[in-house]
Amino acid sequence: HSDVALYAAKAKGRNEFYFFDTELRHQLERRQHIERDLRAAIASSDLTSWFQPIVDLDTGRVAGIEALVRWTHPVHGTISPPEIITAAREIGALPVLTDMVFTNCCALMGRLNKSGRPEIKVAMNLSPLELDITEVDKLIIEGLRARGLSTAQFEIEITEESSLDYSRADKKLRTLAEAGVSIALDDFGTGFSTFASIKNGWITKIKIDKEFVSGSTSSLDDALLVKSVIDLGKALEIEVSAEGVETKENAKLLLSLGCVLAQGFLFSKPVSSSEILGTIERIETSKARLAS
Ligand code: C2E
Ligand code: MG
Ligand code: MG
Ligand code: MG
Repeated sequence: HSDVALYAAKAKGRNEFYFFDTELRHQLERRQHIERDLRAAIASSDLTSWFQPIVDLDTGRVAGIEALVRWTHPVHGTISPPEIITAAREIGALPVLTDMVFTNCCALMGRLNKSGRPEIKVAMNLSPLELDITEVDKLIIEGLRARGLSTAQFEIEITEESSLDYSRADKKLRTLAEAGVSIALDDFGTGFSTFASIKNGWITKIKIDKEFVSGSTSSLDDALLVKSVIDLGKALEIEVSAEGVETKENAKLLLSLGCVLAQGFLFSKPVSSSEILGTIERIETSKARLAS
């Protein structure tokens, strides 16, 4: 691993060579291993989607499910979704990953339909880069049609990034919206998730970032921010959903402010595909009703 040592020495400066530590070497090795093993993981079931329910606070019924990518590396353990996306981009496997996640979403939609729950929407996260480099509009519209699935049952969650040229993405999003796919603006209130894209006309839902949701019961600023996003959604007739709902207090506050859709550890952590139908049932039969 002399190349690694050299890189580190250069990065840290010649005189600091002594301080080249195992920590940095581990980080580099970790990245190399992740990139080396990623393709095989995508092809196998090692890398897969887990699912988290989104609950209607008015009825206590599950209204949607978000797919979240998961990978436990045999040596390095849990690899976070952003790390997976970055590595996939590095090795040119991002379209393959998008494809796999979409296929997982379709499989779940099929199972929901079979169990008599076609009204539960399935949401897939799309990073700005995936939106930019892959023909996601075609993938989704043709993929749903080929499987006999309805676009009305499918949602994509997008985030914004300053570095991206949105003119191409805009066209794809418009195509998807016109075909009946719902489009949620994720992590609203953070980074570049801004008002600009709301007025483009294809946003059907705003997801309030968990940072503000979890803060809303202790910080007045956060509560006011949450309230203003809910009011904005109402004024524009855009659905509003809250993520990171961890306590009953959180859920009650949201409901009192007029936010009906909620997602978070209070109801369930993301679960594997074999657990999701049981999890829906557990949530819906739970005696711990909020509106009490
Ligand atoms: P996100 O789309 O905002 O997803 C919500 C994140 O919050 C998930 O983290 C979820 O596990 C976590 N979460 C849910 N409920 C709670 C809660 O009550 N408290 C707290 N503290 N966290 C909660 P995760 O799975 O680590 O995903 C992180 C991000 O990675 C996602 O944020 C999304 O932007 C991205 N991502 C995940 N899966 C995919 C995927 O398949 N494709 C793409 N492109 N991005 C993905
Ligand atoms: Mg999301
Ligand atoms: Mg989010
Ligand atoms: Mg987030």
